[in-house]
Amino acid sequence: MVSTVFIPAGESKIYYHLSRGIEKNHNFLNDRPQHECGVFGIYGHTDAVALTALGLHALQHRGQEATGIVSYDRTHFHAERRMGLVSDTFTKSSVLGRLKGDSAIGHVRYSTTGATLLRNVQPLFADLALGGFAIAHNGNLTNALTVRRDLVREGAIFQSTSDTETILQLVARSKKTKAIDRIIDSLSQIEGAYALVTLTNNMLIGARDPFGIRPLVLGELEGHYILASETCAFDIIGAKFLREVENGELIVITDEGIQSIKPFQKLTPRPCIFEYIYFSRPDSYLGGLSIYECRKSFGQQLAKESPIDADYVIPVPDSGVPSAIGFAEVSQIPYELGIIRNHYVGRTFIEPQQAIRALSVKLKHNVNKSLVNGKKIALIDDSIVRGTTSTKIIEMLRESGATEVHMRITSPPIKYPDFYGIDTPVQEQLLSANYTLEEICNFLKADSISFLSIDGLYKAMGHPNGRDHNNPFFTDHCFTGDYPTKLKDRESKEEFSQLSLLSNLE
Ligand code: AMP
Repeated sequence: MVSTVFIPAGESKIYYHLSRGIEKNHNFLNDRPQHECGVFGIYGHTDAVALTALGLHALQHRGQEATGIVSYDRTHFHAERRMGLVSDTFTKSSVLGRLKGDSAIGHVRYSTTGATLLRNVQPLFADLALGGFAIAHNGNLTNALTVRRDLVREGAIFQSTSDTETILQLVARSKKTKAIDRIIDSLSQIEGAYALVTLTNNMLIGARDPFGIRPLVLGELEGHYILASETCAFDIIGAKFLREVENGELIVITDEGIQSIKPFQKLTPRPCIFEYIYFSRPDSYLGGLSIYECRKSFGQQLAKESPIDADYVIPVPDSGVPSAIGFAEVSQIPYELGIIRNHYVGRTFIEPQQAIRALSVKLKHNVNKSLVNGKKIALIDDSIVRGTTSTKIIEMLRESGATEVHMRITSPPIKYPDFYGIDTPVQEQLLSANYTLEEICNFLKADSISFLSIDGLYKAMGHPNGRDHNNPFFTDHCFTGDYPTKLKDRESKEEFSQLSLLSNLE
């Protein structure tokens, strides 16, 4: 159990360390696009494009930087890719009208520093020997740079800096004849996380990596099959959820129906636990679990592990809302909305620069002053990454007269970086990777702080014995450093940082 730390508020040197970390790590590897994205695909439906636009709208929380749709009208492919939100692009009849066809795939994209380039916006498309080929990808590959370097040496010409293009280039160069065999051949050479949808002139294909790190679900609407990152994309169009695409499975959808292929060695699934903590929408279902119920249980569990005497339980909206409800329920402390969120501002993570991120917390949140004045607050959020959000919110609560602020985080401390697409920063910028609980409490100027224990996290998700260290049910590398795949590019980091491998074009 993670113990609670009480510490008097004081000055901190941590700001200096974190900002220094950002400068120091502003190098080639951090500039590569990192994806936490959403994908959608539908085959053989007359309203394919409109349904894809709606599906992407429901997946907007997975990426707000850019969006794209590629459709196929049985003769030609059509593509529209733009920076910005789905509603900025795919509500215009001029844009939608150009996307003809009864099959389509779409993508919402999020990326961090650099590489915010139109040429990286997905779905990517290429004319290959097998015909037109479009691909949309959620997840990060862990050997993309290694494979890319080898392909470039052989003469491949890359058009983007996206790791997804590596898959496309491998499909293009495969010696296999059938399209599906080329795709399998390509996937057998990549490592890391992928939930993919691809479209050819006679197939929609969905694929999930051998560990099933990123989610992909299969649905049906009026007899037509749909693939999406999350079930909430089915709800918006009235589609029925059929099942999850399994780890290591390819789903092939054609005019003849649906086929499941499992070409790789069977592995025990390790879906990413962070989908439950932060990334998926609370109204989605994943691994048979309601995301909302999971988050509520995290709060309930934390209230048992680290109880606190407070006047109100207050969530950091929206991320802390379900767990604060759970925390309040168990601790029997009134749940109140002490912080009001402006819904017209996106996630703070959209801002890659620390200075702007700090500002944007204030753009996004304001304190309900009369409520918190003179009160002891239990402040609930789902995670601390760099600590920007919590610091600003605690400061605002104190300015509004809160007498005590006790921070309760409904996930364990994030100590390790992610390489599979949830885009936590490098280790040097992770607050919990570099400081003790006392130091973090001091930095945040909180009266106390505690995190949910790793066993508590598993218990809250229906594993009564906590985390099974020999066979963990999820990939929880952000907390444990237990990465399910090899991290080939990372091991070769020094070599890659010497090369202008990705792009010399600014
Ligand atoms: P930070 O302000 O850097 O400590 O980030 C923590 C806040 O960002 C919390 O409110 C989380 O809900 C949210 N958050 C956590 N992980 C991510 C992520 N991968 N992308 C975007 N936001 C995140």
